[in-house]
Amino acid sequence: MEMGTSIDIRLEKLVNPAGNLAAAAELPEHSGAPARGTFFLETFGCQMNQHDSEKVAGLLLARGYQQVKTPEAAGLILYNTCSIREKAAQKVFSRLGEYRGLKGEGKKIGLLGCVAQQEGEDIFSRAPWVSLVCGSASYRKLPELLAKVEAGELRVTGLDNDTDQTFETEMTRRDNPWRAYLTIIEGCDKSCAYCVVPFTRGPERSRDSSRILADLQQLAEFGYTEVQFLGQTVNSYADPSPRKLRFSELLLEAASVPGIRRIRFTTSHPRDFTPDIIAAMDSNQTICNHVHLPVQSGSTRVLRAMQRTYSRAEYLEKIAMVRGARRRTAITTDVIVGFPGETAADFDDTLSLMDEVRYDGVFSFKYSPRPNTPASSMADAIPEEEKSRRLVLLQEKQRLIQAKTLQSLENEIFEVHVDGKSKKENCWYGHSSCNRVVSLTSTAENLLGAYVQARVTGSTANSLLGEHII
Ligand code: SAM
Ligand code: SF4
Repeated sequence: MEMGTSIDIRLEKLVNPAGNLAAAAELPEHSGAPARGTFFLETFGCQMNQHDSEKVAGLLLARGYQQVKTPEAAGLILYNTCSIREKAAQKVFSRLGEYRGLKGEGKKIGLLGCVAQQEGEDIFSRAPWVSLVCGSASYRKLPELLAKVEAGELRVTGLDNDTDQTFETEMTRRDNPWRAYLTIIEGCDKSCAYCVVPFTRGPERSRDSSRILADLQQLAEFGYTEVQFLGQTVNSYADPSPRKLRFSELLLEAASVPGIRRIRFTTSHPRDFTPDIIAAMDSNQTICNHVHLPVQSGSTRVLRAMQRTYSRAEYLEKIAMVRGARRRTAITTDVIVGFPGETAADFDDTLSLMDEVRYDGVFSFKYSPRPNTPASSMADAIPEEEKSRRLVLLQEKQRLIQAKTLQSLENEIFEVHVDGKSKKENCWYGHSSCNRVVSLTSTAENLLGAYVQARVTGSTANSLLGEHII
């Protein structure tokens, strides 16, 4: 692909309610939308942001824009930002700085996502070359905001954060032709002391179950076989429709949609992780046997200070529930080290919890103070070097645990959904239902999108190696 040409979207699909399938590049001709120029969209942060960007791109394509691969080639440059940790937010401002001169060339620059919501109109003083600032809770207003930007308004904002509305798009430009994200709940009503999400994404809003199931049916018709339900606290889902489906009931209905072979969900909050979810997973193999259950700390004292709403013992009860399932289920987590006041004994509690649970994967972070959060004004900040030291210890422990687990899986057989071809000849990669990455050798000509059986022959630090059983 040459720099600056229209993005290659041969394998990408657009979803719209009329059930049309169209290559994005062709959309301006076929949609009746006037050609409006080009856009470049860069995304920082979590899967929710990745998927929001897929929806924003769909919305722009439907308005007649074409997506390009470089900011230089674009008339409209959009950054979908993350502010979960300070470093992520800083990255956004350095990126904005790089394109400071572009406004003079008639380009428009817009900031979306968590940094946009957090910094609000201050962005215009800090980076006057930006003309649009819009947080995720206002994406539903993007068509009218974009119209203002197109009309030449210089400071357009979408910062309304207190809403019961969700972001519904007619079209979504998906990045993967087989696996699709589907947001079922937006925002967060929890109030973890360290976290910006409730401020940047607004209150919890669940989507109507009938809309979710209709989206799913359409995805199946378009050939998607694996769908991941998304939400900051996905299992806090509360169906606003008269059916009032529980999260576990939604999983079961989703799993029975013809053509759907895998349903995943992330992120689960331990407080709302109830036995009916495990029962649903046990009763229907289409629901993937993987649970991401962030613990954050192994110390009850720190968990209380973090306002996580559970103790170590209560969290371990949830783990026992997952381990007690009929299906062997992979468990992954998030951990923060160096929360204010975390003592050596507290940190030892986190290390011992790792030994006790033996997670299949851990995302670990140094605590980063964030604006407006209760933790940012807490006493007893942990020095940066100590946070780094604890992070290394934790990651080393996890590396050893994971290596042992992966080695123990040798000779086992996994079903792999193949979604990539390695540069190595006859080598493919994909994911198991329990979300392990599996690289496999095969003599088959093309496995992309296929579900295949693979026997494990070895492992690396983070993945399994295997061979295709034909
Ligand atoms: N909603 C999810 C939950 O309840 O665990 C996670 C949302 S957050 C996008 C992903 C992870 O970032 C969190 O689980 C936490 O480990 C980490 N995180 C959030 N705020 C943080 C902060 N201020 N400093 C360091 N890590 C943070
Ligand atoms: Fe942040 Fe806690 Fe909400 Fe997760 S549950 S998004 S960590 S406030």
